[in-house]
Amino acid sequence: QIVYLNGSFLPMAESQISTQDRGFLFGDGVYEVIPVYQRNIFRFEEHLQRLKNSLQATSIVNPFSDDEWLEILENLVAKHPWNDQYLYLQVTRGVQMQRDHLPADCLTPTVYAYTNPLKPVAQNIIENGIKVVTLEDIRWLRCDIKAITLLPNVMMKLAAKAQGADDAILVSREGVVSEGTASNTFIVKDGTLITPPNSHSILPGITRMVIESIAEQQNMPIVEKQISLEELNSADEIWLSSSTKEALPVTQLDGKMVGDGKPGKVWLQMHKFFQEHKQQFIQQ
Ligand code: PLP
Repeated sequence: QIVYLNGSFLPMAESQISTQDRGFLFGDGVYEVIPVYQRNIFRFEEHLQRLKNSLQATSIVNPFSDDEWLEILENLVAKHPWNDQYLYLQVTRGVQMQRDHLPADCLTPTVYAYTNPLKPVAQNIIENGIKVVTLEDIRWLRCDIKAITLLPNVMMKLAAKAQGADDAILVSREGVVSEGTASNTFIVKDGTLITPPNSHSILPGITRMVIESIAEQQNMPIVEKQISLEELNSADEIWLSSSTKEALPVTQLDGKMVGDGKPGKVWLQMHKFFQEHKQQFIQQ
């Protein structure tokens, strides 16, 4: 597997970074995950814009122009045999020999990117959905930044697994649903699709945005509004969305069935429209 690191393409086993990288010492960096369908990078502009927002919010220098970013990612895709892939790219603030919370001026960001085969979502999940538990959202107040600092997400994922669940839906201290540990949340109530509005409490998911635009094109009722824990509990359907999983149906919440315990009607429609949307994108 070939990776990109600071200007070079090289085998993953040969790629090395400094132990003094601020990403390693402080989790001082940001990242993106971008799906590739039939060798075409999906929603490149939107992912790049989110990367630029994350860089700007953290005052990390953006080392490349948009065209340079595209060239690096296209090169990586071309160097691998898989038609469907997902790109991971990470920018850390750079290497600083003296450990100090305060970053030195003029650091050179460390840029790392690699790609993986993107597997279709397992048939079992499409047919039966996933089990989720609710957990208190223990993260910080800037979840809109796609930061590599993911310790709370890891801890919550472990807590979900310890309860026998596939994932968790995070609920704020105020009793409001934010998102999944690595996904956005949707519910369906009386035929209307509902997702929380963008804020500092959630990542502005690209898949969430795609789902919203598909819903609008298809005249499916959709609103952005806060979802309370009670509304989550009484939802007809619950979905989690992300770049590598598209929209996943949640069929069990805190040990209780969601709807009739099967992926819902609205999810089935959206799943079909999403596949069509990908197909149209590939053929463009
Ligand atoms: N929310 C969080 C916390 C995430 O980590 C992710 C993606 O990994 C998402 C939402 C979904 O974002 P996207 O659809 O852009 O992959």
